[in-house]
Parts: sequence; C-alpha cells; structure tokens
Amino acid sequence: MTIYESTRGGKEGITSAEAIKRGIAPNGGLYVPQQIKELTLEKITDLVNMSYSQRAVSILKLFLEDYTEEELTDCVNKAYNTTSFSNSDIASVKSINDSMHILELWHGPTCAFKDMALQILPHFLVKAMEKTGEKSEVVILVATSGDTGKAALEGFADVDGTQIMVFYPVDGVSEVQKYQMITQTGKNVNVFGVKGNFDDTQSGVKKIFTDQDLKKEMEARGLKFSSANSINWGRLVPQIVYYFSAYADLIKLNRIKAGDKINFVVPTGNFGNILAGFYAKLMGLPVNMFICASNDNNILTDFIRTGSYDKRREFVKTVSPSMDILISSNLERLLYELTEHDDKEVSQWMNQLNEFGHYKIGKNILNEIHKHFWAGWSNQDETLKTIECVYSDYNYVLDTHTAVAVDVYDKYVITTGDLTPSVVLSTASPFKFNTSVCKALFGAEKIADKSEFELLELLSKECNLPIPAGLKDLNEKTVLHNTVCEKYEMKTVVTKNLL
Ligand SMILES: *Cc1c(COP(=O)(O)O)cnc(C)c1O
Repeated sequence: MTIYESTRGGKEGITSAEAIKRGIAPNGGLYVPQQIKELTLEKITDLVNMSYSQRAVSILKLFLEDYTEEELTDCVNKAYNTTSFSNSDIASVKSINDSMHILELWHGPTCAFKDMALQILPHFLVKAMEKTGEKSEVVILVATSGDTGKAALEGFADVDGTQIMVFYPVDGVSEVQKYQMITQTGKNVNVFGVKGNFDDTQSGVKKIFTDQDLKKEMEARGLKFSSANSINWGRLVPQIVYYFSAYADLIKLNRIKAGDKINFVVPTGNFGNILAGFYAKLMGLPVNMFICASNDNNILTDFIRTGSYDKRREFVKTVSPSMDILISSNLERLLYELTEHDDKEVSQWMNQLNEFGHYKIGKNILNEIHKHFWAGWSNQDETLKTIECVYSDYNYVLDTHTAVAVDVYDKYVITTGDLTPSVVLSTASPFKFNTSVCKALFGAEKIADKSEFELLELLSKECNLPIPAGLKDLNEKTVLHNTVCEKYEMKTVVTKNLL
C-alpha cells in the first residue's frame, strides 16, 4: 500500500484518500508518496493499444492503492468522457514536424489543461470522504485569477456531497473568463465578484479558511471547507497519466520505438504540470530532458540555471497570465525527491523563502536538477512572434502559453543541438486567450474596437477553426451569478449562501 508523507517531516504515513481529503499537511508541507512504483517497458508498451481511460486506470492504481480498481474506473469514466471532452482520445498528440509534437490538453469543458485534473479531483474527493468515514459535506472555496475558477466549477458542478463557491476580482479577469463563470449552471455552485484585485480576493478566501467561529458554525451544520488548488496530490496524480499517454501515442504513430527517450517541453507556472512528468520519469518513462519554459516572470529559469530561488523581483503581468507567478509551490516536491526525502533541508529552504524571500540549494542538488531539467524563458514580443511564425510555417494556431513553450524549445535546440523527439504540452486553446492570439496573427489595428466575443468569430473565420463549445455563444447565455461584494463582505456572503 502506497503511504503518503509530508515534505516537511512528521512521517505519520497516511493513505492517499486521507492525503487528498487534507490537501495540505498540517505542518504546511505537501504530501508525496513514500515510494514510487515502477512500470516496466513491457507494461508501458501495453498502454499503446488502450483508450485514455484504460491508460488512466493503469497509472492511477499504482498511486491510489487504497481505492479499488472499480472505484478508480468509476472516477475515470465520470471525468474523461465525450460529454465533457470534445476529443475521444482526450489528450491528442499532433505532429508539427519530425521532432516536435504537440500534446493538446485543452479539449475539456473549459478549454485549458486544468480540466485534466479538475474533472477527476471531485470524484477522488467524494470517495476519499466515504473511505475515511467523514460524514460532513465539503464546501470548496476558490479564489481565482481566471482559469482555475471555471475549471473547478465545471469539475464540482452537481457532484453530490459537495458545494463550491468561487470568488474572482470583478475587474481582474477577461470577459470570456468572467462569462464562463457567471453563466455556470449546477445546483451546488456559487460565483461572486469581489471589488478588489486578485490578492485581495485570495487573502479574503484564506481568512475564511482559518476563521475559527465560522469553522464551528460549519461543523454544526455538517459542513467542512476544502480547497481545490494545485498542491493537492489529487490534482497532481491525474497529470502523470498524459505523459505516459503521449509516449504511447508516439509509439502508435510510429514516431518512436518503445524504449526511445523523448523530451517534454512544459509552459510552467506553479510547477505542477512539469512535476507530474518528473514522477512519470521516476516510474520508468524514458525521458531525456524536461524543458521548463517561463514567461517574463522567469524565476524558475534563474533557479534551474543557478540554484538560487529569489522572489524579490517585480511581478510582470503578461500575455500568458496563467504563468504569472512568483512562488511555484510544487517545486517543494521536486526538492524533496532530489534530496532523497530530506524534510529538514526542504523545511529550511521553504522557511527561508517565506521569511527572507529567497534560498539557495547546494551544488550537488543543482547537478541532480541538470540531469533532468533545462530552463529558458520567452518575453512577450517573442511569444507573439512565435504564434505568428508557427501559424505561417505549419498552419497551426498556438495559444500564448503554448507559444512560450515553443519559443523556449527553439532556444533549447539552438543551444544544445539536441534533436531528440520532443513533446510540447499545449495548455490552452487559442480561443481562450483570443485577444493576444488575434493581435499576433492579424495585428493590433485589425482587432481594435472588437470585443472578445467578436474576436472569437474573427479567429474562427480567419483560421478556419471551430469555436470550442465551452466558449461559443457565451455572451448569449443566461447570467446566473451577478452578486458583487466588497472584500470585507466575503465571509457574510459565504455564510448566507451555504446550502
Ligand atoms: C495553470 C496553467 C499553466 C501552468 O501550469 P502549472 O502546473 O501551474 O505549472 C500553464 N498554462 C495554462 C493555460 C494554465 O492554465
């Protein structure tokens, strides 16, 4: 049975269900498996002729051993089906040329890769509550700057035993993102605008989480708060699946032979996506390098190159907003793995980051990082230029986040000369970030005075691509959530709206 432990010590050892229910460890650490199960090349090759759902069960059962295969199959079928996903292969691989392949992770309901995890997390969570004898109902609270809120709403909508409340900064998200949220259907969902920025919204939610009076009131009503953010192991583990799936697809497409090594290029923010790939490598997936791509917030590039993590820098708002981040929480799990589970050292670094805003790892750990990771970044001009070039060379439209990855991949090839077949993880549909994509493709003049909804039509017409179902006719859907509150009213809003 795989046991989970905190990256900051206290090796009490808990089941995966308990780890998923708790989200974060009481000592502030993140849960990781004590041991990683390996997959032989033969078993990896067996994935080639399986559906995405079957591949998912094969991988998930190695980590979530306290769930029965039947339970996992049930979770997988509820998450990865053609009602929610527009592609029956769920995570499709498209070859751009002989060495670059794109793994499209945005065919889910919200058109961004967070669906890959948030479609299944609610089902893991509901089963975790049952398995651990928890009688109360979970109330998920989310503060969002855009992508996560909608993905969590879609995942939790109408899931029995759960309620979800999402807060977004009323002027801090795009029109498309706002309409995606305020038109959300479901009997257990609530969405509120907050008069403030994302930081105000996030601190409001954090305060509610730690409010002791509210906690008591909730307990009396049989309710319990939980979070759906990306430090929960239940969000990380489903992401391991698509690394194996992409490898199996490249074998199937005759691009590689079983056993060949490949690279993965990942547009990175909180380090969750790329870390899932690293776990796949620890399990035996033949990977040469992970290429960690950042935007102007290039803190990870500096860290991977020098070993020094320093958040004392300006936060830049970029055209790839889901990667605008200065604290990459999941890096903690990588450090824990590379130090062979040294919770003392990891705790020290995290405390230094918290207290002084920086820490530096030793040469030996940095050398370990360089065996697996290469890092680079793309500025906003380069990102937009990449969208234009890839469209004109290959007739393929990238979103801004994926364009960061493609630009960094070019830099990697130029710097290293490595022509190993590489998979770029594509994290959003170009329609989701249409203003920047249209600007890159058609120029600022052509898009001036056009609303985001008009730009959806323009992009669709000019590039001959269908508007994804989740974004189509958004502005004609009924607005179901129009409450906007002051930041000091958030707690009242929560208590008033609990079901
Ligand atoms: C969240 C997100 C990312 C960053 O992924 P991490 O797991 O946080 O590194 C990249 N692109 C898009 C579109 C996202 O929504």
